Amino acid sequence: VIKLGQAEHSVITTCAYCGVGCGFKAEMKGNEVVRMVPWKDGKANEGHSCVKGRFAWGYTTHKDRITKPMIRDQITDPWREVSWDEAISYAARRFREIQAQHGKDSIGGITSSRCTNEETYLVQKLVRAAFGTNNVDTCARVCHSPTGYGLGQTFGTSAGTQTFSSVDEADVIMVIGANPSDAHPVFASRMKKRLRGRGHGDGASLIVVDPRRIDLVSSPHVRAEHHLALRPGTNVAVITALAHVVVNEGLVNEAYVAERCDTRSFEQWREFVGRPENSPEALEASTGVPAAEVRAAARLYAAGPNSAIYYGLGVTEHAQGSTMVMGIANLAMACGMVGREGVGVNPLRGQNNVQGSCDMGSFPHELPGYRHISDTTVRTQFEAVWGVELNPEPGLRIPNMFEAAIGGTFKGLYCQGEDIAQSDPNTQHVSQALGSMECIVVQDIFLNETAKFAHVLLPGSSFLEKDGTFTNAERRISRVRQVMPPMAGLADWEVTVQLSNALGYPMHYDHPEQIMQEIADLTPSFRGVSYEAIERLGSLQWPCNEDTPAAGTAIMHEGGFVRGKGRFFITQYIPSDEKVTRRFPLLLTTGRILSQYNVGAQTRRTPNNMWHDEDRLELHPEDAKERGVVDGDWVGITSRAGQTVLRATVSDRMQPGVVYTTFHFPESGANVITTDSSDWATNCPEYKVTAVQVSKVAQP
Ligand code: SF4
Repeated sequence: VIKLGQAEHSVITTCAYCGVGCGFKAEMKGNEVVRMVPWKDGKANEGHSCVKGRFAWGYTTHKDRITKPMIRDQITDPWREVSWDEAISYAARRFREIQAQHGKDSIGGITSSRCTNEETYLVQKLVRAAFGTNNVDTCARVCHSPTGYGLGQTFGTSAGTQTFSSVDEADVIMVIGANPSDAHPVFASRMKKRLRGRGHGDGASLIVVDPRRIDLVSSPHVRAEHHLALRPGTNVAVITALAHVVVNEGLVNEAYVAERCDTRSFEQWREFVGRPENSPEALEASTGVPAAEVRAAARLYAAGPNSAIYYGLGVTEHAQGSTMVMGIANLAMACGMVGREGVGVNPLRGQNNVQGSCDMGSFPHELPGYRHISDTTVRTQFEAVWGVELNPEPGLRIPNMFEAAIGGTFKGLYCQGEDIAQSDPNTQHVSQALGSMECIVVQDIFLNETAKFAHVLLPGSSFLEKDGTFTNAERRISRVRQVMPPMAGLADWEVTVQLSNALGYPMHYDHPEQIMQEIADLTPSFRGVSYEAIERLGSLQWPCNEDTPAAGTAIMHEGGFVRGKGRFFITQYIPSDEKVTRRFPLLLTTGRILSQYNVGAQTRRTPNNMWHDEDRLELHPEDAKERGVVDGDWVGITSRAGQTVLRATVSDRMQPGVVYTTFHFPESGANVITTDSSDWATNCPEYKVTAVQVSKVAQP
């Protein structure tokens, strides 16, 4: 017991917000958290924190918490509070009845990037082993699934290549479609420190690729050398134009490519990007970025000597999201910028455990460790440990579940810690799908939007109420430690175990540590992961096994790419289907703000949200003037999918013709207007490009 003023003891745990994964000390008085103090030994944050991690934990004891299981036969019936046993038996019975009538594949499950690795692993195990189907997907479907595909194809593994500290060695930093100042604040501070240097002109140079003039472009202490303010939906054209300059101006790192890459795919790619139609000049009309800026940025990136790319959902949430991820990987390989400190390709993960939920086999085609379900050798290993026969065919992704529900063949869903009704695109379509199902089981800490369509509500547990691990954006596995008992009596992993038992597939775990042991036994990249090792070393980075140092792997692809030779892919730019017309003359794109987090379920229930209490529509002064809109006016936003009303912020951060909003408040209905257009490879929704009209309206 450590005496800390008011506090009686402290427990070290990990922030439950963004993918930076900051370590915190929860200072406690009895079962009550007195305050959260950033942990100075936390490797991801080294004693730093942002407003969310430090102050926005009050939601864990908010009066809106669901603490009693509830059931109802029809979604029009009132909720009835029942015991855990009754709720779980009811859910199991209804799932089995649906399967008896419509087949095993008529139900499925969704895992959460806010839950622990152990909980996510259990949900996919429940779906595959107890439900007997591969219809399991994760909320990463709507954010970083193109990262999984694109980096898997090019490098051989679906993860960022660097530690956060690697940015200290970068000479050139390229930020694409990410706003770390708002979405990854602690890492943004580290990046800014590197950009500022030590005051002798030795800071790193910055290139920002973003339609909006984000904070990094010109803040008091940091200024981007090049801001490629592209039109939304033209990422692939920009990355191809950058590559064109590298290839045609002799900037390729030939020795690196010859030694480390698949030269056949490289030569095909070189021929493709080198064509005149892929020059910055030829693509300028599409991208809106002056060719001279593209040429200068390409030269700067290629010159390095250490150039690092950091990207976010502005890359992935596009119809060509996977193509763009591969385009980034192509560029990095061609310039020799993968496999050492200070370089690399780094997806910035929005949620605390997006990396982990993907690692744990949450995709319908992959078992834990990104191994395809059709691989007989891998499947046999899981079958031996799980004691069931697994289906070798991939299951349904979330959008396919919705289609099948509307088509009448998908009837039941177990949804843990994910508000698909608010966060998935084209709300009307999602509502139709959810309203078509016979049994939806929602496991969450609040009565979220999806719960409106649910038949069973199982109370979830917050990160303070359970043990487990989260994996951050640098593949760092850190402990989540229970600091108070679960408010509803059971932690999320215990609920999944009980549901599985009720379905007739017994699971035998007394503690999440045993679940991690099973994960390590079955997953080569996790073979060296254990709670004991995390306790001893503070955190581990996968791959962590007999071939790596005890704490795992800080820099990926050092001696060679995981897939062997790095592979280049052709990145043909295909314009988005979302075209501006006279009816919809503006392009809407979306993003986050510092004080809020995703759908706001947590941050809206803490006092610090007082300084940002609504989503607003940002538009350029020219677009505002044309519509007679001044700052603070109410505006109607109409797209081909739907319409909503927000207040306007007139801002020269925007370029003319492009508008922007956040998506933290359910009443704003940002996803009422987004369409169901999605990435060709992964179905990740194209949230970042929606053609809209904006007009002034009366206050609703
Ligand atoms: Fe939490 Fe991210 Fe803020 Fe760190 S930067 S305190 S992980 S929200």
